[in-house]
Order: sequence, then C-alpha cells, then structure tokens
Amino acid sequence: MNKKKPDIKEIKKKLTDEQYNICFLKGTEPPFSGKYTDLFDKGIYKCGVCDTPLFYSHSKFHSDSGWPSFDRPVDKKNIKYENDNSIGVKIIEVTCATCGAHLGHVFDDGPTKTTKRYCINSLALEFVKEK
Ligand SMILES: [Zn+2]
Repeated sequence: MNKKKPDIKEIKKKLTDEQYNICFLKGTEPPFSGKYTDLFDKGIYKCGVCDTPLFYSHSKFHSDSGWPSFDRPVDKKNIKYENDNSIGVKIIEVTCATCGAHLGHVFDDGPTKTTKRYCINSLALEFVKEK
C-alpha cells in the first residue's frame, strides 16, 4: 500500500506533445494511427504517464474502431469514469485514477459478455510484453 504518488509535474515534462495533447488536453489520436491498435502480443497495458496497470492483453479485442479496445480494466479502481457531454451525446470518459490522464471512452456495445468496449488511445498506454 502506501504507494508513492507520482510527481505529475515531472512526468508531464517527459511526455511528447502528442501524448500531452491526449492525456491532459483530452485529445484523440486519429483512428488506425496508434501503435497498439493491431497489437495482440501477451502482456499488460499500463498508463503511459504513471505506469498504473490498466488493461491485460487478454481483455483486448479487435473492434474495427481504429483504437485499441478492451472489454474490462485490470481493476475498476485503476480507472475513473466521468460523463462527457462534449459531443452532444452523453458518453463516458475514462481516465487514469492515479494521475488523471485522459485515456479514452467506454461504450456499452462490446462484443464480449462484459458488453463494455473501452476505446483507448494508444498514446495514453505503454505496453509491457510478458516474458
Ligand atoms: Zn496514470
């Protein structure tokens, strides 16, 4: 427990402009541009900003949306859910519970039994391959 809180100010300095735009200005990477969209290696996807584990590769599926898609997080506590009305329809924004980075959105039209589709920007994630 008693995990040291990451120094977000320091971390922000290390991000690329693109990462900063997505994670802290709530941008969205162009569909099919992300490096993890079609990656199906075994491993874990962590927050690209603070390393909090967010999604396992086995919960990833191919959605044709152009963004990496997952049917559940590693732990619901690692994710924060907020209503997003910015496009005129109510959708749910997902952010990293540890550092507040914007990750993407979650929709209720997933193909698996969780019925969830976490639509996440590759740039907000850091994939760590299983050894
Ligand atoms: Zn984070």
